[in-house]
Amino acid sequence: MAFSLTASNIYVSSLLSRIDWLEHGFGTSSGNPIRERQVASLTQTHSDVVYSITEAGEKQAEGDGMFTNLTALWLSIRTADCIPILLVDPRAKVIAAVHAGWRGTLDQILAKTVTRLTTEYHCLPADLLVAIGPGISACCFEVGTEVADQFESAYVSARATGKLHIDLKKANLAQLLQVGVRVENIDVTEACTICTPGFHSYRRDKTAERMNSAIKIKRGAG
Ligand SMILES: [Zn+2]
Repeated sequence: MAFSLTASNIYVSSLLSRIDWLEHGFGTSSGNPIRERQVASLTQTHSDVVYSITEAGEKQAEGDGMFTNLTALWLSIRTADCIPILLVDPRAKVIAAVHAGWRGTLDQILAKTVTRLTTEYHCLPADLLVAIGPGISACCFEVGTEVADQFESAYVSARATGKLHIDLKKANLAQLLQVGVRVENIDVTEACTICTPGFHSYRRDKTAERMNSAIKIKRGAG
């Protein structure tokens, strides 16, 4: 299994693990969990641009979401503190990977990815399984009023310190529910890249290390 669990490759969703033709993981770049050449990734720009992937290629376009029905091709998302999200339609055999920071979350990139799956692969949102992976959680995501003011109040909390905190995972969960994904088909990890040991955080570490999250349909599963 290419995406082996090691000390530097930490989180696997039990929900996605139910699909026997799927491989996935939320790891770190130093662990380089992907040992195969067949990888598709994007030059991520905090956008709401979503690509249909039809061939392997590193950073083949600017965007922050992608999907494919190709087998043996990893979709790879790199994050520092943003939220990595992996999706699968077990019926249509389509996968997707999304990078959602605060800008992408405001621009509804996750909901737009689900919409693309429904229009291009006739996926039903109720069939989708989604894992919202390790990223900065509300505990650590302190923002200024210029950012907080752009979010609905349900995702903003004022702490005793007087600081404002944003819950990006909750906002992305709400997007999924709004487009018809079932709550029991969504796995939200509590892990916060800043305060949960073992994950990589740009805000905390100021290094080039990244989280590397990826999903793949196994060869022969098509
Ligand atoms: Zn935290």
